[in-house]
Amino acid sequence: MILPIYLYDHPVLRQKAEPIEEITPDIRQLAQNMLQTMYAAQGIGLAANQVGVPRQLIVIDLGREEGMAQPLILLNPVLEAVSEETDQMEEGCLSLPELRDVVVRPAAVQVRYLDLAGREHRREAAGLLARVIQHEIDHLHGIYFIDRLSPVRRLLLRRKLDRIAQGNVLPPYPVVLGTAPVEQRPAL
Ligand code: ZN
Repeated sequence: MILPIYLYDHPVLRQKAEPIEEITPDIRQLAQNMLQTMYAAQGIGLAANQVGVPRQLIVIDLGREEGMAQPLILLNPVLEAVSEETDQMEEGCLSLPELRDVVVRPAAVQVRYLDLAGREHRREAAGLLARVIQHEIDHLHGIYFIDRLSPVRRLLLRRKLDRIAQGNVLPPYPVVLGTAPVEQRPAL
């Protein structure tokens, strides 16, 4: 099922996501729905907050574009280490339609997470994967990529952000506007 994506600056996107204590059928279904939602919106990563569920779950797939799906589902992901070396890359976000900017982040990370079977994994990532992992884990902490830009840069984006928040920038996928009341969140 394709879920609507919550747009800036909905309160759920500022909420800290709760850890998943038990992997229930609902959680497995949520992960599948998130993948479907991400593919439909042509994204490469999605955090549960972005579909209105403040739980620590992210999905990623960098292979989709070449027609070779390689879904990654990370529960309770924790960055255990980040490299001192940084790199710059332009980022976008399904919750911030039509907005892109260059973000500086550590170039490589080590992440610990559970899979849907409850098995613990440790994985090192560099390049685009490291980038997407950091972007999505940020969402679980209520952080947008724009929060990592310089104050001046953010000021320049102010107008665009206001337009998104007011519902004046609508992407070609189902959304919940940033101004929608929190009660519209699906229960889980
Ligand atoms: Zn995002």
